[in-house]
Amino acid sequence: MKTPICSFDARMGVLCPKCDARLRSGQLSKTDVDVSIKLTKAAEKSSEIAKLSLTKAVQVDGDYVLVVEPGSLAPMRRDNTLQKSLQTVLGGKVWLTEADTTEKRELEDLFFPIRVANVNTVWLPDGSKLTKVVIPGKKTDRFPHDTEMITRILKETREMELMVEFEKQ
Ligand SMILES: [Zn+2]
Repeated sequence: MKTPICSFDARMGVLCPKCDARLRSGQLSKTDVDVSIKLTKAAEKSSEIAKLSLTKAVQVDGDYVLVVEPGSLAPMRRDNTLQKSLQTVLGGKVWLTEADTTEKRELEDLFFPIRVANVNTVWLPDGSKLTKVVIPGKKTDRFPHDTEMITRILKETREMELMVEFEKQ
């Protein structure tokens, strides 16, 4: 398993001087460190978690946003037990997304398995930017995501102002 801290540190649960300096300078967050240690421990018992290449972990309210290496998310999605075991290990809802991704891809990752029909950028009269995502169909009780939470995640991780619209009202 790859994490934002050295694998030695993640196994031992302490930071080496190099990683400690990165934490103090803000290159690493406390969440990066905590999640790396917890998941590395869990990876000893889970071959699925062991395959993870974590680049960053962000906590938004009680939820965890795990940012993985570009291209590594699609193969992980085939196993739908992975997300559940990550949630058990971390004790909160887990959202998966990739590093260095586009706005559209990130929206697709956060809304997964729901399909995203359209992503548009809207410029408001005051010059600020609004990203509008359109979800096919209408919102039913079975819709799996809290769209408020997705909006908050994007605001905190990307400073994106998101508006979610369903095709049918
Ligand atoms: Zn280290």
